[in-house]
Amino acid sequence: MSDLRIIAHSLPTAEAPGRPAPTLVERAYEHLLSMLMTVKIAPGERIPIDTVARQLGISQTPIREALSQLEAEKLVYKTTNVGYRASPQMTPEEVHDLYTLRLLIEPYAAARAAEHMDDETLSILQTIQKDMDAVVERNEQAYARFAEADAQLHRLIAKGSGNRLIEETIERLHAHLQIFRSLYQNSAQPNAPEIAAREHQLIIAALLAHDPVAAEQSVREHLSCSQLRMDRATGTRRD
Ligand SMILES: [Zn+2]
Repeated sequence: MSDLRIIAHSLPTAEAPGRPAPTLVERAYEHLLSMLMTVKIAPGERIPIDTVARQLGISQTPIREALSQLEAEKLVYKTTNVGYRASPQMTPEEVHDLYTLRLLIEPYAAARAAEHMDDETLSILQTIQKDMDAVVERNEQAYARFAEADAQLHRLIAKGSGNRLIEETIERLHAHLQIFRSLYQNSAQPNAPEIAAREHQLIIAALLAHDPVAAEQSVREHLSCSQLRMDRATGTRRD
């Protein structure tokens, strides 16, 4: 999937000026994503396609397409007789280990990305920044968009590394959406998205300045702080 395609499918906001109206698949995707991220559809719960279709006043076809996108992102899975279910939550230990792996890879990727990023990617970064700033609106759609914007930022960094194996490794983790879903259930850290948004500002500034040292450092700090926040939220401190 190209970066532009990712932006197009994951930031569909009908009201936002300057953006094309979302397709039915995009509407279905955003609705389901928001329900999953805010745990209105609980982990393991069946997703009734006919009910969702009625709620949105659209046919089942775009909903099935949105579900197959969410399946690729490991947020839902398909079973033979039941249809789609929300994926189970990651355990706190899995979340901790995921950050450890990311800390080994992403700071390096960020340094390379700061050297390589072209103007088109840099302008996408500015769009991502806007979406992250919108999280202060504190509604659930903004929250889901923030999670998506976070996923895109880290994806662009991975791609910007110029190392396809790094890019694929990070992509395969599909970590971001899962992590945000866990975070939402842990109201112990209600300000985490705002704090993370500030950390992201430093990363984006370093990338825009083509500063590899600052990019590496800001990504390392962001991931270390995120790991600590998650450990506190899930009660998994390992000092
Ligand atoms: Zn992040």
